[in-house]
Amino acid sequence: MAEFRGPVHLAASEVERAVPSGTSGAFALGYARPQEGAVFISYVGRADTDLRAAVLSHVGGRYTACFYLPLASPAEAYAEECRLWHEMGGEDLDSGDHPVPPGDHACPVCE
Ligand SMILES: [Zn+2]
Repeated sequence: MAEFRGPVHLAASEVERAVPSGTSGAFALGYARPQEGAVFISYVGRADTDLRAAVLSHVGGRYTACFYLPLASPAEAYAEECRLWHEMGGEDLDSGDHPVPPGDHACPVCE
């Protein structure tokens, strides 16, 4: 997930400063582990229309860190969400079931 940006601390002020609104995108949420210099990813999601709003909806929840990637369309966001979902553990993630496509698109990993 080299091209993803972050980690950003999952607090409203930091998300509003870093994550763009009004765009599709994919994101990953998890827990920062400073001693290991790592973030443990537990949740993968996407936004079809507003990446910032989608990330903000998780502020105050169980996660402390976010990676994000703005993308040009819901189809691109879905493809990236799928790659990350498979790479980060698939059904073992908190986000559980395989991502559902926005319309008639196939997962780039499964197909
Ligand atoms: Zn898949």
